[in-house]
Amino acid sequence: MKISVLGVRGSVPVDGEGFIKYGGATACCLVEAAGQVIYLDAGSGLLRSPDIDNEQVSVLLSHTHIDHILGLPLSRLLLSKRRIDIYAKSRDGLNVKEQLKCLMSPPLWPVGVETYPADIVFHDVDTAFDLGDVHVDMMEADHPGGSTIFRLEHKGRSLVYATDHEHGGDKQKELAVFAKDTDLLLYDAQYTQDEYERMKGFGHSTVSEGMKLFDKCGAKRILFVHHDPRHDDIKLAEMEAQIKNEHAAFARAGMIVEL
Ligand SMILES: [Zn+2]
Ligand SMILES: [Zn+2]
Repeated sequence: MKISVLGVRGSVPVDGEGFIKYGGATACCLVEAAGQVIYLDAGSGLLRSPDIDNEQVSVLLSHTHIDHILGLPLSRLLLSKRRIDIYAKSRDGLNVKEQLKCLMSPPLWPVGVETYPADIVFHDVDTAFDLGDVHVDMMEADHPGGSTIFRLEHKGRSLVYATDHEHGGDKQKELAVFAKDTDLLLYDAQYTQDEYERMKGFGHSTVSEGMKLFDKCGAKRILFVHHDPRHDDIKLAEMEAQIKNEHAAFARAGMIVEL
């Protein structure tokens, strides 16, 4: 299983000199395993995707908050003639196609989802499914409007993608079981502890809660994602330096992890 981190910024993309080390593009990871090409979220990081030869790719959306779909309208994937299977959960009474239409239709965007050259197939999912030999499991996160945490498994290797999730509720215990013994845990750490006190209920977590979860679930490695757009490279490096564990770090755009 190969994971390419393409974007780890949360909420909105940022750019400029202060955002080079960790990257300013929003949520997107590319997972390649067993011949499958699977994108986890489609934020503006999707625009950094390497060229893909596969005639079919899958996109798993945690939810359709704008930072997780911002890369779709101009993605080369949609502008090519391949088949794209998009998986997400129905939310607010809207299926995944209807959710994406909110962004990809006039007046917000001139091109509708049906107009792209790609053959886009939408899947409304709320339970485990398989992509070839890759098994995908899902659980609901604690996040305003909802968000999906995914677990991908292939040949005894696994990763858990837990972004847009707030600790503190029953879901945290469930997540410790869901992420048990995973090889790689990607976890939302948007806020510092001080910020979290002011941002309770916004649906994001912290490094210290991530480390507690990491110890509890027995994951082999944790990478923190969904960096706050107000945290520049200096701030993020300060936060990262406080982690005293060689198996824990902040994710950076451009990072590649082989499991
Ligand atoms: Zn987000
Ligand atoms: Zn969100």
